[in-house]
Amino acid sequence: MIPGVRLVVLGKQGAGKGTQCVRLSHHYVVPHVSTGDMLRGEVKSKTPLGVRAQSLMDKGELIPDEMVMEMVRARLSERDTRGRGFVLDGCPRTIAQGKELDGIVHPFGLDIVIDLRVPTELVMKRLASRRVCVDCGANYSTAAPPMVNWTCDVCGGEVVQREDDTEEAIQRRLDLYEAETAPLISWYTERDLLVSINGTGSPDAVTRRVVGAIDTQRQKFRQE
Ligand code: ADP
Repeated sequence: MIPGVRLVVLGKQGAGKGTQCVRLSHHYVVPHVSTGDMLRGEVKSKTPLGVRAQSLMDKGELIPDEMVMEMVRARLSERDTRGRGFVLDGCPRTIAQGKELDGIVHPFGLDIVIDLRVPTELVMKRLASRRVCVDCGANYSTAAPPMVNWTCDVCGGEVVQREDDTEEAIQRRLDLYEAETAPLISWYTERDLLVSINGTGSPDAVTRRVVGAIDTQRQKFRQE
């Protein structure tokens, strides 16, 4: 039986995190915990958190750490994630979130942090053509649309361009990534948890690289 995993995936917007995280959650049979998807769910349901988050998200700004981490703490305290683990996508995005996450996952810790690396020119191209399902979050592109008339192949929802995939909001998110999230790469490297993976090439090729890296890391821990 495939063991679960306690995994964080970092990477710029458009690096393919969402696509890979869905695949990895199926491979390791653990929940895909995406803070972006959870926040979009709150916006759609018009909860107090969703109402506060919406304008920040549309502009490409970050949601305050306490708000996001409360949501993550609740999700990672549930039985499924505490049991087999999780694929955490979109969090942490700041060092403060990383520190808080350490407390949340204590005493088990994380198995590995993947940094999915893709050149900026390529992510800009991918984001401009990205389309998503409003209901289940499945990703498409103008080059690889759903089979029928912008209707999601997975759930039948409407497939659209995200509100925050405008040029300004994309630029702001990439700037914030460099300023706030990239420092986590050295932070996790110091903790011997970070593995960088080339995120270019076909989705299958990238998944194979990530699974290979996770399995190697597990063997390393087992030998120590
Ligand atoms: P992307 O990686 O393309 O920015 P996400 O779906 O991960 O997309 O996130 C969408 C938006 O949700 C972010 O721009 C931000 O406003 C908010 N968000 C998601 N995760 C976090 C987080 N961990 N901390 C703060 N804001 C977050």
